[in-house]
This record gives sequence, structure tokens and C-alpha cells, in this order.
Amino acid sequence: MKELFLLKLGEIVLKGQNRRVFEDKLKAVTRRRMAHFGAFRVSIRQSTLYVEPETEDCDLDGAWEACGTIFGVAQMCRCRACEKDLDAIFRTVVAYLGDELSAQKSFKVESKRSDKRFPLNSIQISQEIGGRLAEAFPHVAVDVHTPSYVVNIEVRETAAYVHGPSVPGAGGLPTGTGGRAAVLLSGGIDSPVAGYMIAKRGVEIECVHFFSYPYTSERAKQKVLELARLMTRYCGRMTVDIVGFTEIQEAIRDRCREEYFTIIMRRFMMRIAQRIAADHGAKCLVTGENLGQVASQTMDAMAVTGAVVSMPVFHPLIGMDKEEIVTIARRIGTLDTSILPYEDCCTVFTPRHPKTRPVLDQVEAEESRLDVDALVERAIENTQKVAIRYYED
Ligand code: ATP
Ligand code: MG
Repeated sequence: MKELFLLKLGEIVLKGQNRRVFEDKLKAVTRRRMAHFGAFRVSIRQSTLYVEPETEDCDLDGAWEACGTIFGVAQMCRCRACEKDLDAIFRTVVAYLGDELSAQKSFKVESKRSDKRFPLNSIQISQEIGGRLAEAFPHVAVDVHTPSYVVNIEVRETAAYVHGPSVPGAGGLPTGTGGRAAVLLSGGIDSPVAGYMIAKRGVEIECVHFFSYPYTSERAKQKVLELARLMTRYCGRMTVDIVGFTEIQEAIRDRCREEYFTIIMRRFMMRIAQRIAADHGAKCLVTGENLGQVASQTMDAMAVTGAVVSMPVFHPLIGMDKEEIVTIARRIGTLDTSILPYEDCCTVFTPRHPKTRPVLDQVEAEESRLDVDALVERAIENTQKVAIRYYED
């Protein structure tokens, strides 16, 4: 019989009344993701998402990989369905897992029976199939404590399912269950990871990027769009708002004291991002800031930066070490693009001695030399919207 995927739901199972909402979102996301790989049937039964190919020409490997990026899934297994009958189960294990099993030192069988009408209980199923497998694969020892391989059998309402070890899913909550956020996306390592982490909690994201042509190049912008594209693998399609920031940066350079350049620039980013976020129906801002990483990320500096907006500003990386952030960037596939050596607008006009402990009154006094509202307005008018999706089709 055919191969299919069983995706075990994560935290959703803890939800009470609104569990249906979470499940419906998860099915919708899964259907959208699978569409690229062919015709799949997607349904939820008994805390499990069934993803079944409907035609022969489905790209199962591609679909399986894509399932690993669906938030809300805790564990996944690729399995084969068969009749709920011991002989059929045994034949399926041999045909489907025989090669893998044969290469092992030891094994055990683990069974689950959610169809209570099946005459054998789970221990009996394991004993029966385990015994037959021990005879058929005499060179692989039975080891119920620390086997090198586990043969799984699930007898469910619909059929029996046979699979090897399951693998972790993407975790988190289904996209679309947690509202919408605007991520300030630079070309660095941190902000794509921050966006990924907030998206993992079920949040849809939009990105805002500031660029300062000609101080930053077209290639730097392309790099950011590529980072956004890589993020859509997990969070789904998004819009990137590219904000021309040159006029603001030049105004700050011309009018304000050098040690305030960065903090004032960051406050402009927040003001503009908040406006764009509201346009997209986003209710919070997200940055890749990380306490103590650079002068603008001290507690005082972050307080002064955040004080200029009324939306909550989330910093998912705030307490992480760089190494932990890099590990996630590598795993989600953004690291190689992030480390391409293009300039960011933050590195234009960087002060030699930035204020690490800015005081709000003083920063506001410094800003009063600028026509803040007009600058913000023009920057917003000067914004290019780019729709991003993972696949071109
Ligand atoms: P990253 O690796 O994300 O660039 P960083 O450690 O280099 O972070 P900064 O350059 O100080 O830190 O920026 C802090 C945060 O401000 C970034 O994580 C990002 O959220 C936002 N940010 C910085 N530059 C830009 C930009 N050009 N466009 C949009 N957001 C930006
Ligand atoms: Mg940066």
C-alpha cells in the first residue's frame, strides 16, 4: 500500500475550546505547502495530521522535507499503511523497513493501538511481530532496552501504519494563530533568526528593511530579499517593505552630534516600522537585538529606542549567546546568506564613540533639530513593497 506522512501535533493538544481554530489553521498551512509537490489529502484525526498523496506523481521527498518546516508539528513519521491484520503488518514491515532493519545491530518493536477493536493489545502486537522479525532477520538481535532501531506499528481507526524512528517536527504553533508582527530585517545573522523565532509561535510576519542607496548597494538589498525568501520556508509568504533611508541618515549626520547618530537612527527605524506595521495589521515590532552585543543594544539604549513607539517591541534573541543564534541560523538555512559581506545602513556614519547610556531627554533635544514628522512621512512615501514567496510558481 501507499506511503504517507503522519505528523503528530505539538502544543495544540494542550488547547481547550479553541483547539479547532488551531487545527484548521494547521490544515490550511499544510495544504498550501503541499500544493507545490502534487495532490495531497490533508486531514486531522486523533491529534495527528495525515498527509497522503492522492496521485502517483507526487514529489514525496520534497513534500517530506517541507513538512519539517510546518509549525505546530512536534514529531513526524513517514510510513506505509496496510490492512489491520497481523500478516499484512508483518509483510509491510519486511517490504518497507527490511533493508534498514537488516543493517542494524539490534531492534525492538513498539506498537500503539488506538483502535481498541483490534483483537491484540499493543504489547501483544509487539511480541507477535517482534517474534516473526527475529526469525526473518536472525542476524539482528532483539534488544528491548537500548535497540539501535525501533520498528513502529500504529493500529489506528483508518488502517495500520508501519514506520521507523520518527523525527522532530518544526515545533511551535501553526502560522496564523498568533497574530501578525513586523520584523525589522537587516542583512545580518540576527534578525532573520529573530523573525523565525517569533514566526514559530504562530505569528505571521512582514519585514521592513532600511537601505541607504548609494551608501548601501543594490546587492545588499538583494541579499535581504533572499533572507526574507529563506524565512518564508517556515513562515509562509510575506511582504518586505524597503524603506529609502538615505535622506534621514544624511539629515542626522548634518544636524546631530556624532555620538547620537546610531540611537537617533534607530528611533527613526522604529517610528517608520510602526507605521508600516499598522498598515499591514501587525500589532508588534520584532528586532534581532541582543543584550550587550553592541553599543546600541545596552539596556539604556534599547529603552530609549523603544520609547519612541507605542507598539510592543519584541526581541526574541535578547538573552541568547551569539553561538546559539548562529546554530539556529545554520539550521534554518539563513547563515550562509547572512555572512555574505555586504554593507548595512547601520554601518554608514557609525559614530566613533556611540553613547552606550543615552538619556531620553538628551536624545529628544538632539532630535529636535530635525523635522522628524516630515522625514518619516517622506521615507514612508519612498517605500517599495516586494511580495516574497518561497517558490516562484
Ligand atoms: P543583525 O544581525 O540582525 O543585523 P546586529 O547585531 O547587526 O543584528 P544592529 O545592526 O545593531 O545589530 O541592528 C539591530 C537590529 O535592528 C537588527 O537585528 C534589526 O532587527 C534592526 N536593523 C538593523 N539594521 C536594519 C536595517 N537596515 N533594516 C531593518 N532593520 C534593521
Ligand atoms: Mg546589523
